[in-house]
Amino acid sequence: MSHQTLLDRICQHAPSLWGSGKVADYIPALQRVNPQQFGIALLMADGQLYTAGQARTGFSIQSISKVLSLMLALQRHGEQLWQRVGIEPSGTAFNSLVQLEYEQGKPRNPFINAGALVVVDALLARNAMPVHTMLTTVRRLAGNPSIIMDEAVSESEYQHRERNAAMAWLMKSYGNFHSDVDAALRAYFQFCALHMNCVELVRAFSFLMNQGVCMQSGQRILSARQTQQINALLLTSGLYDAAGDFAVRVGMPGKSGVGGGIVGAVPGKFTVCVWSPELNEYGNSVAGLYALEQLADELNSSIFRGL
Ligand code: GLN
Repeated sequence: MSHQTLLDRICQHAPSLWGSGKVADYIPALQRVNPQQFGIALLMADGQLYTAGQARTGFSIQSISKVLSLMLALQRHGEQLWQRVGIEPSGTAFNSLVQLEYEQGKPRNPFINAGALVVVDALLARNAMPVHTMLTTVRRLAGNPSIIMDEAVSESEYQHRERNAAMAWLMKSYGNFHSDVDAALRAYFQFCALHMNCVELVRAFSFLMNQGVCMQSGQRILSARQTQQINALLLTSGLYDAAGDFAVRVGMPGKSGVGGGIVGAVPGKFTVCVWSPELNEYGNSVAGLYALEQLADELNSSIFRGL
C-alpha cells in the first residue's frame, strides 16, 4: 500500500471513533474546539511529505511544546540541566505533584508538568525574552513566519493555574525554582498555546529523525547525542503514564498534548503528526493513537522490530 493510500484509509476510519473520548475541558478555551476533526502529516527522511484530513488546520499544541522548551534549555544549559530535572518515567499523570515531595522538588522527567516548569524556569534564567525566542525559533523550524500563540488559550489557562502554580511553589520551597512563579507560568502557558498544524509540526520536529538537524531550515538544533537523549526520554515519558502502552503498540518516541496532537519520530525514517481533539483518560488523543498504531503496523516501523 502506498503511504498516501495508508493515510487516506486511516483518515476514513477516524470518524468511527468519534464519541469514544472527551475534549479537554479543564482549560475552558480548549473546550470550544469541534471534537470531530482529524489530520495527519508524515514527513519521510527523503523530504517527501504526505498528508490526509485536516493536516493544515491549526490547533493548540499544549504539551508538545515541552519538547521545544527542552530543546531551547539544552542549547543554553547542556548537561547541567539534568541536575534539576530527572530522566525517569513517572508512572503518574502529567499534572501529578505527589512525587515532588518525596523527590525533594526534583521532577522525574522534563515532560510531566512539574519538569516542564523547571525547564521553563531554567530558560528564563538565561533569556530575558523567552516567548520571543520560542516564537522566532518555531517559525523558522516550521517554515511559517505567521505562527502565533493563542492569547485566549494562554489567558484561559492562566485563570485556572492553581495546580501548575502549586507545583512551582513546592519546587521553590525546595530551592529548585528561581524565577518569579507568575512570570514562569505565563511563559509556560504561552508556549503551550502555540497554534500549529500537523504539517508545521512534522517540519519543526524533523530534527528528531535527523540527528539534530532541522530538515526545513537546514539548521543544527542540537547535537546528535542530545537528540538521542530527547528521543529516549520521549519514548519513556512522552505519553506520561501511558508511555509503556505506546511503546508496545506503536514503538516510537512520541509526545502528546491535551489539544489532541501527537508528534512521533522514527530516527532515520520519518516524523509524523496526528491531531484529533477527543482524549482518553490519560489525556492522549483517541484517534491519534489509533492512527499511529495503524501506521506503525503498516510501515513495520516499531523501533523494537529491527530491519
Ligand atoms: N498546558 C497544559 C497543562 O499544563 C498541558 C498539558 C498537556 O498537554 N498534557 O496542564
